[in-house]
Amino acid sequence: MTSDGEIICPNCKYKLLLETKGNDYFCPRCNKIYPHRNGIISFVDENEEKVGYKNSYFFELREVEDKHFWFKARKKLILYCVKKYCQRIINSKHKMLEIGCGNGSVLQYLKENGIDCQGGDLFIEGLKIYREMAEVPLYQVDALNLPFREYFDIIGLFDVIEHIDEDRKVLKEAYKALKSNGKILITVPTYKKLWGRYDKLSFHKRRYSKTELIIKLRNAGFAIEKISYFVSLIFPVLLLFRYFHNIKGKNQSDEEFLKKEIQIMPLLNRVFLWILEIEIKLINLLHFPFGSSLLAIARKGKSESRIL
Ligand SMILES: [Zn+2]
Repeated sequence: MTSDGEIICPNCKYKLLLETKGNDYFCPRCNKIYPHRNGIISFVDENEEKVGYKNSYFFELREVEDKHFWFKARKKLILYCVKKYCQRIINSKHKMLEIGCGNGSVLQYLKENGIDCQGGDLFIEGLKIYREMAEVPLYQVDALNLPFREYFDIIGLFDVIEHIDEDRKVLKEAYKALKSNGKILITVPTYKKLWGRYDKLSFHKRRYSKTELIIKLRNAGFAIEKISYFVSLIFPVLLLFRYFHNIKGKNQSDEEFLKKEIQIMPLLNRVFLWILEIEIKLINLLHFPFGSSLLAIARKGKSESRIL
């Protein structure tokens, strides 16, 4: 955490300069301009084809993310991990970035709980929704070609890399964007046998095994500090639900099928959230042997630390 790092040109990798007038960034080498509009700096060509998500989900999911047990528990887990595993970083002046922040639901939750976090996403639609709610730096960025070098102390990738073909490259880019001793927090869907229509409709490229995530993080240069399954205690119920929903949902349209997957049943929602809150309390003490999500915390460093 010695220097402030650099913002570089995604096109030619040269250090960008900040225009004093409009707060746009520009590249003195290739002359490209990266505009700052309504609080969002865009490092992505508007004409570039964007894959991996569907714009309308940002609007449809906003309400669900505030209520559904899975999203609520994941936010609590992320906050817990930032406080627990990045304590020394957040105690000093820090810069944290969530890549793939979507509509900013996690950013908002972290902010409400005293953690400053900036947001980056390929899709401007989600960033615009969050822009209405908060004044934090937001970037339209391609996770495969980040403009940051040694710039952030913490980077979060929460259910993002499973949407991207070249997930290895995303991890390498995050590594380069982190300062030395900076940390990455990552969640991914796991248990390959759960792969099904829901994953395809969510634009997932894969679900991860624990070994696969460990190898990919290590190959990107990270030293893993903690890796654990999550959504473990209700995992058997989830398996059954998926199994029957895949059978029963055969005649449902894609839209109906997805709606059913994320529908909120008030009583069950409360019970599941309560169980997952217990998991968060236990995750520090043990690692669950199974679950539908994987959580990892890793450090930008050379030596491999003990995996807890
Ligand atoms: Zn350039």
